[in-house]
Parts: sequence; C-alpha cells; structure tokens
Amino acid sequence: MARSRRPLIAGNWKMNGLTADALALAGSVAEGVKQAGWTDREVLICPPATLLVGIAEAVKGSGVLVGGQNCHAVVSGAHTGDISAEMLRDAGASHVIVGHSERRTDCGETDAVVRAKAEAAWRAGLMPVVCIGETLTEREAGRTLTVLETQLKGSVPAGATAARLVVAYEPVWAIGTGKTPTTAEVAAAHAHIRRVLSGLVPDANAVRLLYGGSVKGSNAGELLAVGDVDGALVGGASLKADEFLAIAKAA
Ligand code: PEP
Repeated sequence: MARSRRPLIAGNWKMNGLTADALALAGSVAEGVKQAGWTDREVLICPPATLLVGIAEAVKGSGVLVGGQNCHAVVSGAHTGDISAEMLRDAGASHVIVGHSERRTDCGETDAVVRAKAEAAWRAGLMPVVCIGETLTEREAGRTLTVLETQLKGSVPAGATAARLVVAYEPVWAIGTGKTPTTAEVAAAHAHIRRVLSGLVPDANAVRLLYGGSVKGSNAGELLAVGDVDGALVGGASLKADEFLAIAKAA
C-alpha cells in the first residue's frame, strides 16, 4: 500500500569531502538510486557548500536531490563567510537543513534564528528541513517532550504547510554516538511532534518527520518502521554509499 507521506532519506555530509572523493561518493549514490528506480521515496544529499555546484551537476538525471546544510536569513549583503538561501538555490539545491544541533551549539543559533532561516528557504524556493532535539541532560530530566514543543513552536514559521516543511527529530545525544533511542521513545517523540504541529500547520498529518541520530544500514529498518517516522537524516553513514543506499532501501 502506498504511504501517504513519501519517505525522505537525507544525507548530511557535514564538513567532510574534497572534490575527488566527494564526486565519487555522489556518483555511487546517484548510480544506486538510478538503478533502484525508486519513485516512492526521495533521496537527498547535503554536501559542504563548496561542492554543491559540482555535485548537483554530477547527480543530474539520477533522481538524487541536493541540499545545503545551512543558510543565512537575508538575501545578500555584509555577512562575511555566510551563504544565502538564494545562493544555495542558484548552486542547484532544492533543500536546506536549518537548526541542526551542531549549529545551535557551535554557532548559538536560537529558535528565532532557525525560524528566520526557514523563512529564507521559502523565499528562495527551497524546502527547509528544520531540526529539533533534546540533549541528554534534558532527556534525563524528563523534559524531552517539552523541549521538542518549545523548539517546534519557536522554529517553525507561521504559514508552514506540509508542502514546504520537513521536520527532523534528532536527539543530540544520539548524533554521531552510535546510541539511538528505543523505537518506543522515537514513536513517543514523533507522535508528540505531530500533535504539536497540528496546532501550527493546517495539514500536520502530511508533514514528513525524519528521525536522525546514528542511523545506519543495520538499524534503519526498525527505525523507519516506527509510525510517524517518514524518513531519516543521516550523518556518518551518509559518507559511505553502500550504507546510505541500504538506509534508502530500508525506507
Ligand atoms: C546528523 O548529524 O544529522 C546525524 C544524524 O549524524 P549521525 O547519523 O552521524 O548520528
């Protein structure tokens, strides 16, 4: 039976990749996706900005989508070192990750900043993938659902609809650690996220909710089978074509 929410498998390469290896990786992913001929799921790779143009060109015609890992809120101007959503779009991106926990931590991005970036994505015609997630301290204090609610309400702009919003639930303590929540914990978080979204988005039931945090080929099947999990945001495992394609296959 066809799923009402088409799964999205997104690879976040983070600050990894020089041209030759990155093109080879993107080429292998593109080849795998092309051979699989999937029409019931989407595969997205988010390389470092320096590689966007080359990778967008390399995966053309394969069905693989390309996205940025961050954007600035404004169109252009005196923001040394930053990249606007329009620039990402110009480079071939269709999506952009906003509010990744590494940016919230490393760069002090607040919910308001993340919301402005999601609005910038819309302005440029990009699909924002808005990341939220609790720290270990917050989880251990029993505050997970409250934290997710606060982040969602602060980070999702007014006017959001399923056609222009993807949310990624990424427990901070699960990112890059090899640890994952139990499927029951993932289910509880995603159900709560959808409940909160129903007060923010008219068609909350159709919004895709990704799970992210130590997803790999061997655990993708059970994580992606959880109700309300509509795909994955993948870090480390997206740097290996076979692993990443195994995750996409599990969707
Ligand atoms: C991420 O950075 O979004 C992520 C989920 O990383 P990893 O898969 O390595 O845990």
